[in-house]
Amino acid sequence: MGLLADRQSQLLIDGKLVAGGAGTFPTINPATEEVLGTAADADADDMGRAIEAARRAFDETDWSTNTEFRVRCIRQLRDVLSRHVEELREITVAEVGAPVMLTSAAQLEGPIADLSFCADTAESYQWRTDAGVAMPMGIKTHRTIAREAIGVVAAITPWNFPHQINLAKLGPALAAGNTVVLKPAPDTPWCAAAVGQLIAEETDIPPGVVNIVTSSDHNVGALLSKDPRVDMISFTGSTATGRAVMADGSTTLKKVFLELGGKSAFLVLDDADLAGACSVSAFTASMHAGQGCAITTRLVVPRARYDEAVEAAAVTMGSLKPGDPTDPGTVCGPLISARQRDRVQGYLDSAAADGGKFACGGGRPADRDTGFFIEPTVIAGLDNSAKVAREEIFGPVLTVIAHDGDDDAIRIANDSPYGLSGTVFSADPDRAARAAARLRVGTVNVNGGVWYSADMPFGGYKQSGIGREMGLAGFEEYLEIKAIATAVN
Ligand code: NAD
Repeated sequence: MGLLADRQSQLLIDGKLVAGGAGTFPTINPATEEVLGTAADADADDMGRAIEAARRAFDETDWSTNTEFRVRCIRQLRDVLSRHVEELREITVAEVGAPVMLTSAAQLEGPIADLSFCADTAESYQWRTDAGVAMPMGIKTHRTIAREAIGVVAAITPWNFPHQINLAKLGPALAAGNTVVLKPAPDTPWCAAAVGQLIAEETDIPPGVVNIVTSSDHNVGALLSKDPRVDMISFTGSTATGRAVMADGSTTLKKVFLELGGKSAFLVLDDADLAGACSVSAFTASMHAGQGCAITTRLVVPRARYDEAVEAAAVTMGSLKPGDPTDPGTVCGPLISARQRDRVQGYLDSAAADGGKFACGGGRPADRDTGFFIEPTVIAGLDNSAKVAREEIFGPVLTVIAHDGDDDAIRIANDSPYGLSGTVFSADPDRAARAAARLRVGTVNVNGGVWYSADMPFGGYKQSGIGREMGLAGFEEYLEIKAIATAVN
């Protein structure tokens, strides 16, 4: 059977591929607006069964303690996904509207390869640490610190980098010994369901260890946060939804791990190659139509060279025409949906109403009447108090803001409710490093360095999240710590 046969995806519950209790819902190609096919639409009963299956697999099998088996399963999953990478690429480009060039990196092949890190980490991890013998309260005691899986993990994910985010949760959660219920975004059900089909048909991952529940109804996902059988929520999405998840999780006091939105700044200090830096910033803000949480969408430049910076950004961004994501030359594809396109257009309208000027772009491309496209847009003439400088737009939109020296640039960067990422460009590495150290963000790019790697932690300060994904820190998010004290006679 081929992947997603009959253009229809199913749920994965307790090891079986099954239909959804609420029927099906369509998944749409955002570049063409065509219906690609349908996904199983789960109802509350399906979600209840998925949670029960994950609970049983955790409580009644040796999955959580058999590290050797888990490591083998994760490497097997990596190999299975690699074997099917061309089918997955086709699904990803069609469903996400992701430029095909990005699928060789974070959009697909990167996260598949990164499963190796999860398997290697579990294999070499020190699950028990001998803390030695001591005399606490006068009682001779041998102490051991054990790390154990948390239990049932609910992974709730967005649509912008579905494989990256789904696998960056599944990999470490499974490696750490948990069982998982994955609830992907309703905009990209096939990316997750295809992985579910491959898990069911081509891996030895036992029934119930991974459950994948697609649904058109956000409330079905919200059941996970409230359910007492779920021990941890691993959520990636908007800050507003993150807040709701945290509130729902509070009733059962489950661990809540959040990767949320951003409004990251790209600082160009006055000794940097201004045109080069602004061009890099403009290119980054256009990639995947700006639908990346860590994209730097505020370009903060020396006031004395503001016009030059706007011009340099506009030359690059104006040349990156939104295009067909299947074309290997396309950098900026469509937005995911008409709703998102209209939301981005609303921000552009607000920039104009606030007195901002479009140095390029400003709306839908004239040459495309189908597909959810927005032109890469540079907004000039506003300061950091403007709505487009404060709120996450999630479109190919760069707001250029003037600074009056390094302290002011850092103040502007940190003057945000978010703290996900940032970039500093300076000809002086020490000066750049000093600025990087003062940014209240989880990841910093200095002069073009890349922080994205399987072994590097990713996450946000402030309202960009709680906890870290990827790296050793990301693996340890999925562990409990147990202190064992044995009296010594
Ligand atoms: P979203 O918050 O609307 O949805 C994310 C997921 O949450 C979806 O699966 C959705 O069905 C589910 N959901 C919605 N309401 C829920 C509720 N009340 N309870 C439980 N689940 C619920 O986000 P989106 O629009 O799909 O994605 C875009 C957002 O994701 C942006 O804000 C972006 O910055 C953020 N994001 C963050 C990161 C990160 O790592 N920090 C990465 C990618 C995307």
